[in-house]
Amino acid sequence: MELRKDPLTRSWVLTGDDLPEGPSRPATDCRLCPGASDRLQQISSRPPIAGLGGPWSARAIVHPSAVYHIEGTPERRGEGLYDRMPTLGAHEVLVENPRHDRPLWKADDGEIEQFLLLAAQRIQDLKGDARFRYISVFKNYGAGSGQEFEHPNSELAATTFIPRRVLYELRAGLDYFKQKERCVFCDILAQEMRGGQRVIEIRGDYLALCPYATRVPYETWILPRTHDSAFEHAALSPSAKLRELGGLIRRTLQRLRTVTEPFHLVLHTSPNHLHQSASLGYWKTLDQDYHWHVEILPILAAKAKSYTFKEVYYSPVSPETAAKRLREAQIEI
Ligand SMILES: [Zn+2]
Ligand SMILES: [Zn+2]
Ligand SMILES: [Zn+2]
Repeated sequence: MELRKDPLTRSWVLTGDDLPEGPSRPATDCRLCPGASDRLQQISSRPPIAGLGGPWSARAIVHPSAVYHIEGTPERRGEGLYDRMPTLGAHEVLVENPRHDRPLWKADDGEIEQFLLLAAQRIQDLKGDARFRYISVFKNYGAGSGQEFEHPNSELAATTFIPRRVLYELRAGLDYFKQKERCVFCDILAQEMRGGQRVIEIRGDYLALCPYATRVPYETWILPRTHDSAFEHAALSPSAKLRELGGLIRRTLQRLRTVTEPFHLVLHTSPNHLHQSASLGYWKTLDQDYHWHVEILPILAAKAKSYTFKEVYYSPVSPETAAKRLREAQIEI
């Protein structure tokens, strides 16, 4: 596999002829449960929680079939007008819970807190490597999501490029800041809280809402009300309120599960300051103009409209209706 840059959109894509899948494993054999026979390469772990079982509460391992690999230099090579790069980076599985039957929507706030701390520590650690421009943390759950393991898990990828969606946000955040000297996300938060139509829930410092220009039905963002560009910075600070965030993630997923099971969840945090990029001008005000957040994209049965193509998002449920339904959803805790 290699990375290729689309000269028209400036997006990097992963391509190559992937190796065929090996023989499928029996479904009963979970590789991520504590005590599994597989020797997985552990990178770090969080201390166990009494009563939960397992030698850890959350742990990071090298992805057993990693897409990105840690050795090498991020050398770009030209091929005429094209650019290509090797798949340098890091690819980890973040095991969210030692228990196979404790997904985020069933875990308690303290358990989710340990997972969030693990994610923050891994991001901070990998940002120490100047070769990496961005660290993504994401979760795929359910049919059609790309979920790879049954056991509650998220994935982490450190890459030598910034994913396209984050780049769009960084550019928009910078432009907005240049004009107004304010953070666009802080302004969105203030306006949404005043209006209330698209707000699902406020829990302490965190707010869940359906975005104004929703990409898919029931798209949901979770944002901190306190401005910070970097999730790991906020999460590892003494004033962090990760239990509140854990509780809001749990409750939001419970609400979304009343609509559909599968989803993608992605954390958007600031890129790596250590990577000095001449081509991107956002470094000076990055801490002021970007604002970390979580995006959840539920997967609903496709109702494709032929005229929208793939380039235009089409959401047959408005975010106002979605937020109302999610606010009123019956949830457990
Ligand atoms: Zn398991
Ligand atoms: Zn902000
Ligand atoms: Zn985002």
